[in-house]
Amino acid sequence: QYKKNNEMGRYCQAFDQLRMQLKESLEKQATLEKSRKELIASISHDLRTPLSSIRGYVEGLEDGIVHDRERFNRYMAVIKNKTESLNNQIESLFQYSQLELSDGVRDLCRRNSEELLETILKPYEVEFTDCQIRLGISRPFPKAEIDVNENSISQVFDNLIANAKRYVDENGVITIKANADVRYLTVSVSDNGSGISPEDMQHVFEHFYRAEKSRSRNYGGAGLGLAICKRIIEGHGGEIWVESTVGAGSVFRFS
Ligand code: ADP
Repeated sequence: QYKKNNEMGRYCQAFDQLRMQLKESLEKQATLEKSRKELIASISHDLRTPLSSIRGYVEGLEDGIVHDRERFNRYMAVIKNKTESLNNQIESLFQYSQLELSDGVRDLCRRNSEELLETILKPYEVEFTDCQIRLGISRPFPKAEIDVNENSISQVFDNLIANAKRYVDENGVITIKANADVRYLTVSVSDNGSGISPEDMQHVFEHFYRAEKSRSRNYGGAGLGLAICKRIIEGHGGEIWVESTVGAGSVFRFS
């Protein structure tokens, strides 16, 4: 404690400021280190689960415990399913780490929002024609000039639509709307599915977060889909958020 405003006083003040900055930086480093450890723990856990299941079934086949065709097919189907799930998880991890490494989204191009939305969403309409779940796309789209990386934005739609599809039942309806104001184009992807509890809602955009329900449902998602969306949207200078009611459905919006 040195209160006088003389040369020594200024020296003490500067020293104290330095001390505070160092403290902050060490705290930040500790938080980062903690989240890095959590990340590695989650990755190891999530990759190990399907792997040990694959190993179990392969060993079963090796041991010759499968004598009938039906059982053999069942084992093979599980192995294939788990392999696919591993593949999806690794793909999400790869995308997520690419986004982390590149520090944002590159190669933004000026595009007309109507053309862009049409190009991205048309294939989904085709995909959903053979599906019991209905996809409603609200047209006309706004005609705004926006700066986007098309591949990244397609990825956001991919993740949000895949999630919506996953959490609705056979009477599912997914609706996509877009509108524009002077600064932003805002898109909403709504579903009438299971909804998200208020506690989960605060965390769904964090990496590796999965609501307990979806964990127990044994769906092999990595909990990275929304974290990837958030990175991409923030990389465009926009925002993404969710409104949801348990039992009624969810609305994901991004600008
Ligand atoms: P993943 O789908 O790989 O588990 P995400 O990051 O895409 O990971 O989603 C995180 C969690 O958010 C999901 O596990 C799920 O609990 C919840 N969630 C995401 N989208 C929806 C939705 N449309 N309806 C209900 N819950 C959802």
